[in-house]
Amino acid sequence: EKSRIPLMAGNWKMNLDHFEAAHLVQKLAWTLDDAKHDFDVVEVALIPPFTDLRSVQTLVDGDKLGFKYGAQDLSQYDKGAYTGEISGAMLAKLKCTYVVVGHSERRQYHYEDDAVVNAKTKTAIKHDLIPIVCIGEGLEVRKEGRQVQHCLAQLDADLAGVPADKVASLVIAYEPVWAIGTGEVATPDDAQEVCAAIRKRIGELYSPDAAAAVRVLYGGSVKAQNVAGIMAKEDVDGALVGGAAIDPGEFASIVRYRD
Ligand code: PEP
Repeated sequence: EKSRIPLMAGNWKMNLDHFEAAHLVQKLAWTLDDAKHDFDVVEVALIPPFTDLRSVQTLVDGDKLGFKYGAQDLSQYDKGAYTGEISGAMLAKLKCTYVVVGHSERRQYHYEDDAVVNAKTKTAIKHDLIPIVCIGEGLEVRKEGRQVQHCLAQLDADLAGVPADKVASLVIAYEPVWAIGTGEVATPDDAQEVCAAIRKRIGELYSPDAAAAVRVLYGGSVKAQNVAGIMAKEDVDGALVGGAAIDPGEFASIVRYRD
């Protein structure tokens, strides 16, 4: 049994308006309630678009639901003339617990490099948000067998200057780019290889205690049918789920992977 509490985080990406969001939250809540889900045993985080956060907050607070929630991105800046951006303070005010940083879709379509991801990670921490820092190799790197080296270089750059006392509460998501939205899931051994390397590196950069506490998620085409095999691996502490996270039945089954 792992000492770390598993985390299932559902990244809705750019899907669901606020009305559809409320519907999904309610369906998920009913399904998990029927199953008597204990959120202290497997934590569940909802990561909707910014425009849904207030609706999600209202449902979670008002009905005392067990979900945590967060945003898919934040600005590296605190306030000011940054049209279209959302600050860490704004997310904290909505009682977000988490914020995803460095998702491969941000890196690819919005040209975010490790310097930006590092700045966003530190900004999130400053606002008492827990960053879910995404790293992962593309297909070329995987074919060359350099996935560990590649991911550790990203990790080093993305965590540079993060205060040591904050590292234990961080979440790192290993998301091989070739497995995101492709239906091509990494094998449990592939996931374990990189997740273990990430944990070891945290130990080298910070401390054995930080390494033992930090949660490392796998992400990339996680479904109800493949989640248990991945979760059985020692260094995988949960999943960052995209496509399957907006299907309430499928996501509830992922959360209930022990059943
Ligand atoms: C993601 O967006 O983080 C993700 C893993 O997507 P999918 O599950 O659809 O591959």
